[in-house]
Amino acid sequence: MERKMTFRQLPKYEPEKRSEIYLALNENPYDFPDEILEKVFKNLDTVKLKIYYDSPSDELLEALACYTGQPKKRISIGNGADEIIYDIFLMFPDMKFYVCPPTYSCYSIFASATGVKLNYVPLIGEMYEKLNLDKLTKVLDENSVLFLPNPNNPTGQLFEKSDVEMLLSTGALIVLDEAYYEFSNVSYVELLDKFDNLIVIRTFSKAFSLAAQRIGYIMANEELIEYYNSLRLPYNVSYISQQLALAALENLAYFKKRTLRIVQERERMKEILSKNGFKLTDSKANFIFILAQDDEARCIVEKLERQNITVRKFEQGIRISVGKSEENDLVISTLIGKS
Ligand code: PMP
Repeated sequence: MERKMTFRQLPKYEPEKRSEIYLALNENPYDFPDEILEKVFKNLDTVKLKIYYDSPSDELLEALACYTGQPKKRISIGNGADEIIYDIFLMFPDMKFYVCPPTYSCYSIFASATGVKLNYVPLIGEMYEKLNLDKLTKVLDENSVLFLPNPNNPTGQLFEKSDVEMLLSTGALIVLDEAYYEFSNVSYVELLDKFDNLIVIRTFSKAFSLAAQRIGYIMANEELIEYYNSLRLPYNVSYISQQLALAALENLAYFKKRTLRIVQERERMKEILSKNGFKLTDSKANFIFILAQDDEARCIVEKLERQNITVRKFEQGIRISVGKSEENDLVISTLIGKS
């Protein structure tokens, strides 16, 4: 007898097709450096390839503690920040989850996959720069979880520390997603000393050019980290990925220099485009965001597509990852019509 299977209707994760100049996923325009890669591969221990390697290794935890200023007990890792986000949905099946759109698209995709209903409290202000604190402080309590990227994705703006503290005071679990931390140099991780209901997430995908390696980390109080570790898959991040992350942290000065270059390019793009009549948010991430209505946004995307440049369109505007200087030049000249 043929058995008819039924599947849930789930939203798909569908990134834009790869193109010559791909500025849709906020990847680092610079490759992971050859010299560091070669050294990591030369030193790989084949014994560690065949065993179930600790995830996280003590060595990596040590390096993360040093980088973040947090004790090892407050840190764990994930198969990208995405796995951590996914697992947080699984950790609290009885809680009410909130996001503030425009926000990171995977929150709603993972909520659907894990069977969680998401609640929305949109950002306010002309540039979507402000949290709707009146509404949030009314709806949030000990039974809520709020995901908040800081800098925000897709607008790139930072939220005030005092606003985040106000959210924490509601008793809700606040998940501060600092995926773009290195480009803003602003972190509220020290609030972990004051609040038990805070989780901070970061990644090696952006500032450290390791998106394909899938490695992110979570920081929270010891009890939450223990719970996360017992829920997640035991060997979630590979030995090689951990060694590459470790090497990145051992070469911080190198990556800091590259991050600075991206930040300078971001500011250059913001300045030239605003001077030419575009309305941009004050992004502190590795992308810019142009506010535009649907028709205008579509027109801009098509213009860029004709130059083989792929960006991401949102309901509120267009997000363009900061690329290499010559790629940014082409974006600028295409947009302002001087090429
Ligand atoms: N959080 C935010 C806000 C992001 O933009 C991204 C990636 N685009 C992630 C998390 C996921 O990062 P990872 O590559 O570490 O899974």
